[in-house]
Amino acid sequence: MSQQVNPAAPVLILLGPPGAGKGTQARMLEETFGFVQLSTGDMLRAAVAAQTPAGLAARSVMQAGGLVSDEIVLSILRDRLAQDDTRAGVILDGFPRTAGQAAALDELLTYNGQEVGVVVALAVDDHEMIARVAGRYTCASCGEGYHDQFKRPDVAGVCDKCGGAEFKRRPDDTAETAGARLEAYHAQTAPLIAHYHALGKLVEVDAMGTIDAVASGLRAVIHERGVSAQA
Ligand code: ADP
Ligand code: ADP
Ligand code: ZN
Repeated sequence: MSQQVNPAAPVLILLGPPGAGKGTQARMLEETFGFVQLSTGDMLRAAVAAQTPAGLAARSVMQAGGLVSDEIVLSILRDRLAQDDTRAGVILDGFPRTAGQAAALDELLTYNGQEVGVVVALAVDDHEMIARVAGRYTCASCGEGYHDQFKRPDVAGVCDKCGGAEFKRRPDDTAETAGARLEAYHAQTAPLIAHYHALGKLVEVDAMGTIDAVASGLRAVIHERGVSAQA
């Protein structure tokens, strides 16, 4: 894998609780800057759907709102990072989520002659997070994210991006599971904010504003930090 990775390829991390807008913003950054979004949640859902051994092991943990083991998540991410399309630079959406994952990421990147570029912490309060998760749905064809109140398709029932007419909701986007996910976030993931702050890599972006306001905050960070995708 080391040969396949462009050493200069930037690595951006989006940190934030469930519903903060990581996926929404990662897709926008992908379009604007040409980075590739790597969502461990999406990868795990694909593994669950394909009933791979990793998917079978992860399914009940995800359903309960817990964190899947570092071992499973890392093996899935390693395989994904070995693919050629990640050479332009990646946005890690939902990874790392534990201190162990952060350490393993450093090791993996160091081995490839890379390092974490900038870590953006999307800050939302717990109440907003519950509302965002509860109203979330996505296009079944292209994965574009929508929300019952905050982001409706321009034409009701038709995806803005691909024209698809089928939408789906995640089984873990319930009020009960949201509480467990938030707890896991505060206990295991939020400490990474201090970790990356100490390394001088952290920037906090207020994620309570509109999707476009958050996106412009993120673009400003990327310009300030001089992060750009590789040709
Ligand atoms: P959210 O939109 O809530 O941030 P994700 O789609 O990123 O959720 O993840 C959904 C679920 O997949 C998580 O609740 C967790 O069970 C599992 N998961 C995703 N990424 C990781 C990770 N890096 N480490 C452990 N579990 C993960
Ligand atoms: P995450 O990947 O962090 O779990 P998502 O990007 O999936 O979060 O966003 C969660 C839900 O909230 C989606 O339904 C999305 O359309 C909506 N959403 C995202 N960002 C905002 C925002 N700034 N204001 C209002 N709703 C938002
Ligand atoms: Zn679509």
